[in-house]
Amino acid sequence: MKKVRGASRASTTPEEIASAASTGAASAKAAKAAKAASAKAAPAKAAPAKAAPAKAAKAAPPKPRAPKPRAKRGLAVAARGAEATAHANIAVAKYWGKSDVALNLPAVPSISLTLDGLVTKTRVRFDESLKADQIMLDGRVATDKEAARVVELLDRVRAAAGMLLRAEVVSENRFPTAAGLASSASGFAALAGAAVAAAGLSWSEAQLSALARWSSASAGRSIFGGWAKLPAGKPGQATLAAKPLFGPDHWDVRLVVAETVKGPKKVGSTEGMERSRRTSPIYEAWVAGAPALTRRIERALAKRDLDGLGAAMEQSTYAFHACAMSASPSILYWQPGTLAALRTVETLREKGTSAWATMDAGPHVKVLCHAADAPKVRRALGATEGVTKTMIARPGAGLVVR
Ligand code: ADP
Repeated sequence: MKKVRGASRASTTPEEIASAASTGAASAKAAKAAKAASAKAAPAKAAPAKAAPAKAAKAAPPKPRAPKPRAKRGLAVAARGAEATAHANIAVAKYWGKSDVALNLPAVPSISLTLDGLVTKTRVRFDESLKADQIMLDGRVATDKEAARVVELLDRVRAAAGMLLRAEVVSENRFPTAAGLASSASGFAALAGAAVAAAGLSWSEAQLSALARWSSASAGRSIFGGWAKLPAGKPGQATLAAKPLFGPDHWDVRLVVAETVKGPKKVGSTEGMERSRRTSPIYEAWVAGAPALTRRIERALAKRDLDGLGAAMEQSTYAFHACAMSASPSILYWQPGTLAALRTVETLREKGTSAWATMDAGPHVKVLCHAADAPKVRRALGATEGVTKTMIARPGAGLVVR
């Protein structure tokens, strides 16, 4: 299992994160963990040869022979930054509904494809001079709601690393945020990678996936390139992580994205799922039927059977949207352009092109097809009324931390 390149000490297990971290601000438990961890934390010189150098130490080299106060040295080890990039993923076996809201565990298994075109870049720097976490998202100060989700993840990392330093987080989504293009997936995968490395921890992909998944279930899958699966979680299972299925080169397919309207959606995924669980009369049927659909999708994926996968993916998509639509008050993510794009996909199929649609909690339509058919599919979607923008995404890489 790959480790994130970072400095210093042995990893902390997700069980330890679960027990040490609170879901709110850095807690007394975190302070206790900090004390215990500082006793066993290895100094920077124990970092592997390839580890990212401690930037703070580089930026302010100690004067020759000047005695270094202990506290300063300790802080210099922790006060460093890291940058990570992650790509959004689009589920082909859809995720909708939670089995444990506090631990953010999915009620159904899901399978996704990580895409190269939808990128988030996040930089995290822990700094002793900061009085509070500072979070910038897409060039602006994050809203309180956005910041709270970021701080929750940072608190888990601080608890695991045994430190209390505040962080500066600068993140940029190179595509629309909160608009049904899975910005939360790439956003929290990149944040997990950057925060863990900046804290000097060296974690496996499974550990990073469990951390990212806690903030956004789909983010757990964006740790991996290509095709990944997130199993359903049993209530209380804090360590649930996604698993890689196949790399980006497994299959030469494309996902053609048809955007239908601009602007953030009105009901976020978390709220939409909760409302569906509480009020939709078909929610239980969706949860009961999802594992069989996921198995069909996984089998078709292994055989590179586009029509087999596409048919099951469309069924999974319509089943979860039916849950949202039948909630009270109902949640309709579709726009006129959404339906028009879905009809275009049907017409393409009637004329012999293997093209299959999916949507997330938003109005955009994403169409899976063979690489050779992607230009034709894009042209057809681009000519569809209500479609404002199209792009072709190919299978993408997993998390990269610098
Ligand atoms: P989407 O379809 O874009 O994933 P969601 O409503 O599921 O929409 O999630 C969007 C939320 O994810 C944002 O409101 C914000 O809280 C969070 N988010 C998105 N991008 C980032 C990022 N780069 N860093 C941290 N949080 C992010």
